[in-house]
Amino acid sequence: MMKKSIPLSEAALCELVQEYGTPFHLYDEKGIRENVRQLQAAFSWHPRFREYYAVKANPNPYLMEILREEGCGADCSSLPELVLAHAVGFRDDEIIFSSNNTAPAEYERAYQDNTIINVDDISHLPDLKERDWLPEKICFRYNPGAIGYGNDIIGHPEEAKYGMTKEQIFAAVRWAKKQNIQWIGLHTMIVSNTLDIEELAQTAKMMFTLAAEICHEEGIRIDFIDLGGGIGIAYRPDEIPLDYQDYGNRVRKLYGEILAPCGLQDVALALECGRAITGPYGWLVTSAIHYKHTYRNYIGVDTSMADLMRPGMYGAYHHLTVLGKDDVPCDHIYDVVGSLCENNDKFAVQRPLPEIVMGDILILHDTGAHGYAMGFNYNGKLRARELLLKSNGQVQQIRRPETLRDYFATLDYPDLPR
Ligand SMILES: *Cc1c(COP(=O)(O)O)cnc(C)c1O
Repeated sequence: MMKKSIPLSEAALCELVQEYGTPFHLYDEKGIRENVRQLQAAFSWHPRFREYYAVKANPNPYLMEILREEGCGADCSSLPELVLAHAVGFRDDEIIFSSNNTAPAEYERAYQDNTIINVDDISHLPDLKERDWLPEKICFRYNPGAIGYGNDIIGHPEEAKYGMTKEQIFAAVRWAKKQNIQWIGLHTMIVSNTLDIEELAQTAKMMFTLAAEICHEEGIRIDFIDLGGGIGIAYRPDEIPLDYQDYGNRVRKLYGEILAPCGLQDVALALECGRAITGPYGWLVTSAIHYKHTYRNYIGVDTSMADLMRPGMYGAYHHLTVLGKDDVPCDHIYDVVGSLCENNDKFAVQRPLPEIVMGDILILHDTGAHGYAMGFNYNGKLRARELLLKSNGQVQQIRRPETLRDYFATLDYPDLPR
């Protein structure tokens, strides 16, 4: 059992709560840096490996800046994410634009920024050509269809809306060659939040084999293989985090076995993990404000799904601890709930916890990815601030809390605060 902790003493966290009030997201710069360095070290056998951080996991430019400093690229999937990446200083092939059902304005921006454009569907190709947006570096997203794995978040590949069939990939690669595009990549993303190293290794094997087949059958060299994101994190204390080194070694072996024999030993290699990079280094800190006893025991907290959707959206587990009560026995069963008028606005359901009294500080763990990012304003809920615990120990506010003005900003109506 791994004990889930927060990189601040009880006193220091209390001080933060005093200063800012709850709720807030807190991120740990040092943890993020050390973590991404470990991932990179596992792939350091490859001279041109790059992790493109999936911006959608946590689109805060202060965090993106940290990852840029660590040598990551940015994986963007929308126009605002492209704008963010550019503002943070990512340039050209440090950005991969991996979208689907893509709007023209998004392709236009990706083309203008000279990013790697990762095309989700073959039907987009004539359009890109017609608009004169053929990129220098193009990539194609592969969907292998039924392969017997996949999971609840991303679905089974044959049911997933993403990517092209094998025949379409071959046709797309031939097309790119015909357009005289000199640099062609292959991409896939078929698992999400997996701690199963076999699944990840199988994905690498599938992609390397695809590149080898294209080389054999079409005589076309692939320049870049992007294995996508999908590395899971140990949300539950009894789960074991993925061993990056083991993963890197397995990919290295497959790379040598499959690509080297066809002369493809210098194909660039990429991952685009989001969750694994920042997920474990974020916490949502909230206060217990109500105790309600009906058919169950409820603890009402001062945050809601607006700040963390995952439990409500797909029943995801987020570990929850009570500040100063790590050693108190978990002999109470609670539903820990937000204030939304939706019954799935629960952070924990029938969870054994220490006895909670009003004013207790509750810490939701592993909220550094798909936490703030997924937030929304349903029910007029305003999203919390984001704080960064810097490597030097100082805390910086990297996003202020939302205000009524923010909420009403898009309305042109009298007597509303704007
Ligand atoms: C969501 C997504 C990622 C990141 O996934 P994680 O599970 O956060 O690693 C990477 N690439 C694409 C195309 C995605 O949609």
